[in-house]
Amino acid sequence: MYEDTYCEDITCFMGGVEKRNPGEAEFIAAVREVAESVFPYIEEHPQYRKARILERMTEPDRIISFRVTWEDDEGNIRVNRGFRVQFNNSIGPYKGGLRFHPTVNLSILKFLGFEQTFKNSLTGLPMGGAKGGSNFNPKGKSDREIMRFCQAYMTELQHYIGENTDVPAGDIGVGAREISYLFGQYKRLRNEWTGTITGKGLSYGGSLIRKEATGYGCVYFTKLMLEERQDSLAGKRVAISGSGNVAIYAAKKALELGATVVTMSDSSGFIYDESGINEEKLETVIQLKEVERARISKYVESYPEATFHEGQRPWSVKADVAMPCATQNELNLSEAKALVANGVLAVAEGANMPTDADAVEYFLEHKILFAPAKAANAGGVAVSGLEQSQNSLRVSWSREEVDDRLKAIMADIHTNCVKYGKEDADGSFVNYLKGANIAGFIKVADSMLAYGAV
Ligand code: NDP
Repeated sequence: MYEDTYCEDITCFMGGVEKRNPGEAEFIAAVREVAESVFPYIEEHPQYRKARILERMTEPDRIISFRVTWEDDEGNIRVNRGFRVQFNNSIGPYKGGLRFHPTVNLSILKFLGFEQTFKNSLTGLPMGGAKGGSNFNPKGKSDREIMRFCQAYMTELQHYIGENTDVPAGDIGVGAREISYLFGQYKRLRNEWTGTITGKGLSYGGSLIRKEATGYGCVYFTKLMLEERQDSLAGKRVAISGSGNVAIYAAKKALELGATVVTMSDSSGFIYDESGINEEKLETVIQLKEVERARISKYVESYPEATFHEGQRPWSVKADVAMPCATQNELNLSEAKALVANGVLAVAEGANMPTDADAVEYFLEHKILFAPAKAANAGGVAVSGLEQSQNSLRVSWSREEVDDRLKAIMADIHTNCVKYGKEDADGSFVNYLKGANIAGFIKVADSMLAYGAV
């Protein structure tokens, strides 16, 4: 029986994970990726193996699943499933986003909650890992329907969250509007004003720089990776995918730091602007995507020197830096090969799990600087943590103050990745994936060891 075996090797360990989580492909893949980095480290530190820390870490503290009943505009009763996966609260109250999307299932939320545990640990802030959401599809719903759904969802979720227990935030399908409805309902039901949800509006407890944090943080991290190699971001050609929140602010910060952004995309295709998407052109992208809710292809109407590539992703262009900032599984092995053939130096994941496992392996084999999502996009949750601190202290920090703290957090994450990710006899190559996994693991594992068998 796997359950009763002290696994000496990764095959035995993964056999147990697969047996306990049948059919949960995303979760199993996420565990495998971490286990591959962490297993050799555990072998050198038997106290973790003896206490079965990795087995405990791959089992969520608890999974909450509930019915969400709401009424649509025609008066029909609708039923969805709501979830919250409280993965690990060893180092702080649970923290992680809520996703409203028809594809939401337990495997995806367990994968995201597991990853969040490591990401939050890397930030150095006292935050445990969680994720939640519903298979509710917000697309095509009226504003009133969204409100009723959020209120129904929160009516059940409120039993399990709180500022010292679990602090949800947004994710796909849960933006400023949904956060406001969720927070409003929580406040009403509990008759208390606490920072139990982050991503709030500025007038009711939100933090400056939260919107920009993920994209900015990803660029700060990329800059540090290049500097570690005595190189710099200034003058580099950067290919970015996506044109949503993460992509826009990654582009903005890359421009500010002297890089040339040559691509952006959406689900219809990508634009290539060889002369660079400058500040003014980026404003056009923001206008198109955030205000007009139009397609990125319209960019070439304003800038005919650029080209639009329908149904394609931007990884075929010549770039020094690639930043996948759109969605999961958007960079495969053949695209990784094209990027390497074109001389890419660094790849930083702004999105969650955008790079396929075999593409990651290819980058590492070719000694490309590869920043995994749990390190590169941790700036978002870090500023959410800072929002919690401001709420508890009843203060609002200035833009500069939050930005400085964000920079310091990204620098600490980078230092820790270098510390545990150095490879080659002379330590000249940093495997950031390995570094992030081990650094994230240690803090959670040591806390679990200290607590004893709980
Ligand atoms: P948005 O919804 O703001 O933007 C998503 C972007 O990706 C849009 O440009 C969208 O295009 C594009 N996109 C969506 N699906 C596809 C697809 N199948 N193929 C190509 N492009 C696609 O999301 P965010 O920018 O907030 O998030 C992006 C990623 O970053 C997600 O993986 C998210 O989990 C992750 N992330 C976000 C954080 C944050 O703070 N926002 C924090 C940490 C991680 P279209 O307009 O056509 O839909």
